[in-house]
Amino acid sequence: VVEAYDIHKSFGDFEALKGVNLTVAPQELVFIIGPSGSGKSTMLRCCNLLEQPTSGQVKITGEEITNRSVDINKVRQRIGMVFQQFNLYPHMSALGNVSLALRKVKKMARSEAEDRAQAALQRVGLADKAGNHPTELSGGQQQRVAIARAIAMEPDVILFDEPTSALDPELVGSVLEVMRELRESGMTMVVVSHEMRFARDAADRVIFMDGGLVVEEGTPERIFTDARSDRLKSFLHSVT
Ligand code: ATP
Ligand code: MG
Repeated sequence: VVEAYDIHKSFGDFEALKGVNLTVAPQELVFIIGPSGSGKSTMLRCCNLLEQPTSGQVKITGEEITNRSVDINKVRQRIGMVFQQFNLYPHMSALGNVSLALRKVKKMARSEAEDRAQAALQRVGLADKAGNHPTELSGGQQQRVAIARAIAMEPDVILFDEPTSALDPELVGSVLEVMRELRESGMTMVVVSHEMRFARDAADRVIFMDGGLVVEEGTPERIFTDARSDRLKSFLHSVT
């Protein structure tokens, strides 16, 4: 679903990505771990062109999106994104937040958009909160609204950038539970997170980045119990 080849990204003369490859198969959950500043967010952002890679190629479901002639708005409809800060509109209800892009981007009629939004809220366990505004929801509920917003667009893949990092510890579980169900339903997902236990249970593959490069990748079992590089060993030591 995602094929990124030799992605380089520079900010001025600082090279944040130094040739990263990332391929994600249908229904796969790929986890990206690594220290702060290693380029995890930049890599996700290059996959949906929130950042334009300095060089390299990104394909989504076979279509090259780094080609300049591609309609970036069309591309973004196929790639869901969930951020650490939920980025909900404060003046809109949960239902309004989830249905907005369906109406404005997919040009659905209000009733159809709201039906689909309601179904997405149901999937994240918030059917009864559709009328609530973000301030009337817990952080975990707000993040689930953000996930519903991504699901409702029926994307090819959803990219998660530290979806639970802004949450109080007791709210993390509900969001991970929704992500786990999403995975079981066959959604293709790329997750940047420090939730190592979730990575162990739910990931198909774990990628360790450091210094703008992929240093190691493998099954969770391999990465967490048989680290080969000193950099991964010391990273795992620091987070577990
Ligand atoms: P964290 O775990 O802290 O979120 P990360 O692995 O997501 O870290 P990135 O946000 O991808 O790291 O940043 C990688 C490097 O690129 C960092 O050194 C960062 O300072 C730099 N960087 C990222 N975005 C920009 C930008 N817009 N302008 C300049 N430098 C940037
Ligand atoms: Mg980051």
